[in-house]
Amino acid sequence: MGAWCGASIWTRLANRRSVNKKSPVWHDGEIELSLVHARSEHIAQETSHAWAKRMKVIIAGAGVGGLTLALMLKRRGIDTVIFEQASEVKELGVGINTLPIAIRELSEIDLLPSLDLAGIRTRELIYLNRQGQEVWRELRGIDGGHPLPQFSIHRGRLQKLLYDAVIDRLGPEAIQTGQRLSGILQDEGSVTVHVTSGSDGLSSRTVQGDVLVAADGIHSAARRLFYPKEGVPSWNGVMMWRGATAFEKYLDGRTMFIGGGMGAKFVLYPIADAGNGKMLTNWVVNVRVADGADQPPPKDSWSRRGRLDDVLPYAKRFAVPGIDIEALVRATDAYYEYPMCDRDPLPQWSFGRVTLLGDAAHPMYPVGSNGASQAILDARCLADALKFAEHPMQALFVYEKERLAKTAAIVKANRKGGPERVIDEVEKRAPAGFTDIDAVLSHEQRSAIIEAATGQRPVTDRDVTQARAVPSSKMHVA
Ligand SMILES: Cc1cc2nc3c(=O)[nH]c(=O)nc-3n(C[C@H](O)[C@H](O)[C@H](O)COP(=O)(O)OP(=O)(O)OC[C@H]3O[C@@H](n4cnc5c(N)ncnc54)[C@H](O)[C@@H]3O)c2cc1C
Repeated sequence: MGAWCGASIWTRLANRRSVNKKSPVWHDGEIELSLVHARSEHIAQETSHAWAKRMKVIIAGAGVGGLTLALMLKRRGIDTVIFEQASEVKELGVGINTLPIAIRELSEIDLLPSLDLAGIRTRELIYLNRQGQEVWRELRGIDGGHPLPQFSIHRGRLQKLLYDAVIDRLGPEAIQTGQRLSGILQDEGSVTVHVTSGSDGLSSRTVQGDVLVAADGIHSAARRLFYPKEGVPSWNGVMMWRGATAFEKYLDGRTMFIGGGMGAKFVLYPIADAGNGKMLTNWVVNVRVADGADQPPPKDSWSRRGRLDDVLPYAKRFAVPGIDIEALVRATDAYYEYPMCDRDPLPQWSFGRVTLLGDAAHPMYPVGSNGASQAILDARCLADALKFAEHPMQALFVYEKERLAKTAAIVKANRKGGPERVIDEVEKRAPAGFTDIDAVLSHEQRSAIIEAATGQRPVTDRDVTQARAVPSSKMHVA
């Protein structure tokens, strides 16, 4: 087990969370949320950890973040119920990557075998310019020296394996589908959640718990309560077309390509074995179609089916050695359009007995494999905080303190391109391509750009070769 994510900061919590008996009401035509902040003087009276044993945590959203949290809380003996607005958990989306640091957490809840059945252990990541010339390559997961793998996996399959584990371990009642978070009322002793159901949203009921975790994604209803003026997500003007299809295996079947920088990018990686020498192969075409000053398309049109005439001309601008990109796109039955959106980092996630998690808390550009990974890390931190803190409000504060700044830094780094900024830098210096990459940017310079974005030195074949060349008597053991 890793260390608990934060220290005891009860006094500061009591100072910070002010008494507010007013009940701000938010109404946007769809839902109404009202909130009464918990009174901090009452909280101080409830100091025993015994509350954790009888605690009930309500989670809104059965995405990767919400489901992982439920499994982690179960491990810690804490009761949970999830309300999910969709009428069933379908395998939606296409490929995502999960970093070893997040896989470590899933492995601790015994999900490694299921991940191996559903996904691919990514071995190598190769960055290319648009012409298909190699800018950088690095080893990932266990091949890159981590104790656990990185997985490339279908987002819907990851969600489904988490969902199945929740049903198996917590029972079928633990996930209530077709139930939309529609209101929150909290006082010093509990939080009451209002959920609506039915196609008209007219059937409703209330459920009481000790804590509400809003893991309800980038359009989070709870976030809108606390930040009613925030408005729609911010869009950088880049449209993403995402698809996946069974396609001839390339290289070792475990290699990820990213070609081109922030303005125009092609991403390619296998996410499952499709049999007969084929792999379920995920592809993404990113193209700047607006200047970043525009509002994103309305949320109903996110994930709209893309049209071949729109995506193919863009896709054909990229080259990946040994891959017929046009054939790949043409072979794909359905692909979907998403605007590349995020939101500005927030000053606060936790309000009394309610907190935000995953994309609800820190939606970020899909750069550097962080979307699902950071939601999983949030879940681990929050589960520990709920288990060990002296009071639910303290737990939520400790969680926020540990996770908010870290994820805000990633949101900001991703706006600059994340580690993939190395491709932008090379394309800026050599827009028509190069004959010697080291003359454009040295190995050390490229490595430093990636390290600055991720906080970690990337591991290349060169490092592995050098490590092998060092006599074992001279090796340092960390
Ligand atoms: C349909 C879909 C497809 C996606 N496809 C991709 C992809 O192909 N590639 C990629 O990199 N990322 C994709 N993402 C984003 C990725 O899943 C997240 O960035 C990451 O996994 C973090 O997940 P999360 O649990 O915080 O949020 P999400 O995965 O967005 O899950 C949020 C959940 O909350 C539910 N919800 C929303 N509002 C309410 C409410 N009021 N009450 C109850 N439930 C509610 C949603 O239905 C959803 O199940 C997708 C997300 C969704 C929802």
